Amino acid sequence: MRRVFFLLSCLFFIFLIGSGEVYAEGLFGILKLKVDKSTISVGKETLLLIKVTRDPIVGVQWTPDPLDLATGGIQLKRTLEDLKKHNCNYISFHLALAIQYPDLARKFIDIAHRNGFLVSALWDKKFPGAKKFIEENPDVCMVDQEGNKENSFCINNPKVRKFVEKCLREIIQKCPDIDGFIPNEPTYPLWNKTYKEGKVYCYCDICKEKFKEKYKMEMPKVNLPKDRNLECWKKIVEFRKDSFTEWIDFIFSTVKKINPKINTQLIFIPHSVENTYVGDYVSESEAYGANVDDLVKLKSVENIQADPYWGNISADRVYGLVSRFIPRFSDFPHRYGKSSYFWLQGFEEGKSHVLGPGEVAEAVKATLGMGCDGVIIWLYKGFERSSKNPNYTWEDYFDEFSKAVEKYMNRPVVDALIHIKGCGIEKKLKGKFPDNKDGIYKIKIKPKKEGEIIITAYREGLRLLREAKIKVRGKY
Ligand SMILES: [Zn+2]
Repeated sequence: MRRVFFLLSCLFFIFLIGSGEVYAEGLFGILKLKVDKSTISVGKETLLLIKVTRDPIVGVQWTPDPLDLATGGIQLKRTLEDLKKHNCNYISFHLALAIQYPDLARKFIDIAHRNGFLVSALWDKKFPGAKKFIEENPDVCMVDQEGNKENSFCINNPKVRKFVEKCLREIIQKCPDIDGFIPNEPTYPLWNKTYKEGKVYCYCDICKEKFKEKYKMEMPKVNLPKDRNLECWKKIVEFRKDSFTEWIDFIFSTVKKINPKINTQLIFIPHSVENTYVGDYVSESEAYGANVDDLVKLKSVENIQADPYWGNISADRVYGLVSRFIPRFSDFPHRYGKSSYFWLQGFEEGKSHVLGPGEVAEAVKATLGMGCDGVIIWLYKGFERSSKNPNYTWEDYFDEFSKAVEKYMNRPVVDALIHIKGCGIEKKLKGKFPDNKDGIYKIKIKPKKEGEIIITAYREGLRLLREAKIKVRGKY
C-alpha cells in the first residue's frame, strides 16, 4: 500500500512538472526557503539543511501615489517596510493606476516583487471607451420589461464580449506582471434598479432569444414586487444568475488566455454570499443575481474573496455569521481546488466602523483559524482614529492584526519539490521525505566549481517569492 502511495506521489509530481502552465489553481499562500549555509567550498561534500515553510496570504488594499513613484518612491519604500514589519505579503492596488500611469505601475509591481510581496490589481469593472462603444452601437443596450433602453451594455451580447476582450487585453498588457486580477464585487448589471424601482432586465433581442431557447417559452413580463413569488419571476432570476455566471467565466477565461500566470480572484458582494450560506437578504440578493456555488465551481475562477465587514454588525451576530458563513466559504472552494480570502474592515464610513480592539484578533481567528487562506485589510491607513473610540488608532489596529496573523505563519511544508542548480550540480527532489515532519530537507551536494547555487521550491497552490542562494568558493 505504501509503495502504491509512493508511486502515485511520483506520478502526481511528474504530472505537475509536465503540465506546464498552471490553470485553475487557488493561491493558498507563500512558500519560503531557508538554507543554513551561506558559503561552501568546491569539491567538499556538504549536507544542506533546507527549511521550507508557508505563510497564509496577509495583506492590505493600498495604491501608491503616482507622484511619489515618479519622484524616487520614498513613500513606497516606507510603506513596504511598514507592511513587512506587520507580517504582510500581499498588496491589492487599484487598477486605475496601471490604466493611467502604466510605467509607474510596472515600476511599483517590480519593486514590490523584489521586496517579497504578491501584487493583485483590483478592478472596478470600468471599461475604458465603454461610453463611446455604447453610443456607436445602440443595439448592445440593456432593455427593461417595457422596452426602454438603458445606457448600459448587455452582458449576453456577442458584440459586447468582443469589445470587452479587447479592453481586457489592453488593460492587462499595461501591467503584465500582476499576480492576481480582482473584479471588485461584480453583480448582474443594474441590479439596484430591479431592487429599488422594480425595473427588470434584460429584454433585448439576444436575451429574449436565449431565454426562449432555454425554457421553450417567451420571456414573461413581470410586475415587481407583486410577482415576486411567481414561477415566471423565479425563471428570470435563474436566467439572470446563469447569464452572470457565464459572464464571469468569460471575463476570467479571457484573462487566463491573455496571461495564464495571473491568478483570477473574485470578490463576492457579501449579500449574495450571505443569501447562499446564511439565508438573509433573500429578496435583495435575487436582484444581485449571483449564484455563489456555480461561480466557485467555474474552472476559470481560482480564488474567491468576500468582504462582510463585521465591524458593522453587533457582537453576537458576528459570531453567528462567522460560524455559519466562514467554514462553508472555505471548505467548499477547497473541494474544487480554490482558495479563499477575507477582507477586514479598516475604514470608517457613516455608521460603518472599523473593527475595534479585540475584534481584529477575533476576525483573524475566525478566518485563518477556520481554514481561510488569506486575510486582507481594506484599507491601509484607512483611518487615523476610530470615531467610535477616539483613543483607538490605525497603529493599534495594525499592531493587533500583525500579532494575530503571526500564529498562522511559518507552517512547515513537508511535500515540496526542491530544485538545486549551479556549480556543476542539478538536482530535483520530488515527493515526501518520510522523516520530514518539520519541513527540513536534508540534501547532500558536492559542488564542482566556483559560483552560485540557486535553490528553489515548488508546491502546488503556493508561490515562492524568493529563491535561496549559496556561494561556492575555492578550487580543486
Ligand atoms: Zn440582453
